[in-house]
Amino acid sequence: MAVSTTGWPTLPALPDSATAAVLGSGLLQELSYAFSGPFHFLLPEAFDANLRDLRAALDEAGVDGSVYYAKKANKAALWVERCSLNGAGVDVASLGELREALGHGVRGEDLVVTGPAKGRDLLRPAVQHGALIAVDSLGELDDLITTVLSGARRPARLLLRCLPPDQPHSRFGMNEAELSAATDRCLRAGDAVRMEGFSFHLSGYAIQPRADLAAHLVGLCLKARVQGLEAGRISIGGGLPMSYTDADSWHTFLSEQNSGHYHAGKSFSTGDFYPYYAPASGADALRALLAARPEGHGGSLAGLLKEAGVELLMEPGRALLDRAGATVFRVQGVKERDGYRILTVDGSSLSLSEQWFNSEYLPDPYLVPGSTGAPSETPSSDTPAAETPPAGTWPACVGAATCLESDMVSWRKIPFRRPPGVGDLLVYPNTAGYQMDSNESPFHDLAIPPKVVVDHTERPRPRWRLDRHFT
Ligand SMILES: *Cc1c(COP(=O)(O)O)cnc(C)c1O
Repeated sequence: MAVSTTGWPTLPALPDSATAAVLGSGLLQELSYAFSGPFHFLLPEAFDANLRDLRAALDEAGVDGSVYYAKKANKAALWVERCSLNGAGVDVASLGELREALGHGVRGEDLVVTGPAKGRDLLRPAVQHGALIAVDSLGELDDLITTVLSGARRPARLLLRCLPPDQPHSRFGMNEAELSAATDRCLRAGDAVRMEGFSFHLSGYAIQPRADLAAHLVGLCLKARVQGLEAGRISIGGGLPMSYTDADSWHTFLSEQNSGHYHAGKSFSTGDFYPYYAPASGADALRALLAARPEGHGGSLAGLLKEAGVELLMEPGRALLDRAGATVFRVQGVKERDGYRILTVDGSSLSLSEQWFNSEYLPDPYLVPGSTGAPSETPSSDTPAAETPPAGTWPACVGAATCLESDMVSWRKIPFRRPPGVGDLLVYPNTAGYQMDSNESPFHDLAIPPKVVVDHTERPRPRWRLDRHFT
């Protein structure tokens, strides 16, 4: 599928009917004109579907579990509103995120508060609202107990976060000795705390290490219960992988691409690319995790959880946002170079964050004509004969509207099938997870791209509204 006859590697995004419907509707051209700059659009139904799929995977395995959306993956209020409507929780790690989650309708009891060395300004409202607090260190546990004793009206609900034995250089969590000291302090704190269990969050996306560590945490729960603590839940954090493309396209891309395919001979270490294809992604990755046999155990993780009566909490960010949005730039300049073009768009790489992690967001952007009616290189453009562009390949990299050499939205010379021109739109697909706003800034006094919630279901034309995130 990705084998390019032209010698230019491509990475087509998986087809998505909702995104295709928006691309074909004419709405994006209107919004680009209205905002005079880049914007993101958000698709609430995709989020709801991802949440349903994760819950279905838990149900199929007969495992008692809860899903908390990891808010840092995208700041939009929309996702919190969907969590509130669907009875899901939210994982917050700052006072601002806590405020946003409560303000958009999620109950305090449905929040989990993560992040290292949380200040008392965060701990106090977290306790008052009955949120579950993942304690990262002994010092933080002491602060939390002091917070409760100095006037909170309810006990602190907490998990103890474990330093992953396989990632000993992680700056998060407590080692075995610290966990055991923390357990003792919880016992001594008596009614001031409710010790509900243990948590971890692993870097990377591998399934087996998560199954192994989850089983280890179940063991810690059983021990803590013997000591008289509640210890009925574990949180496995986030890191459910997600596929942006198919296996063939991804492997072909990796084997074909070299520095000649990037502007200025730029080269990326392939190990720094996000793994844009995963054999099991989203809910299927959760299924694989529940079915995995943890090291040293005879049965599956699901069986172990059920046997121990331990609830499984998870904090997916990216996996809940799969297919839930895209990012739209307008081409405002085109320059010819040796055999390729340099496009300049109306925004910057601060609105497509991958560039800030020694990497690049690789799924191919769609080239959409700036005025409706012109031929469109959209997901459906492979089929209708009437829209077939003239044969040919026009490779182009994508630069930002800033004065930095390094500010490229795509270093890669993307092989477009028609010549991109001023006024065309570039739509980067599937950007809701981490790409949109983790690095956004009003650098150069460029406006921060607005987020538009698009409702395209059961109506001839999609309608839209602005997201309600408080900025
Ligand atoms: C970032 C983070 C998550 C979400 O990770 P994803 O890879 O987006 O699923 C969950 N839990 C914690 C503690 C995190 O720091």
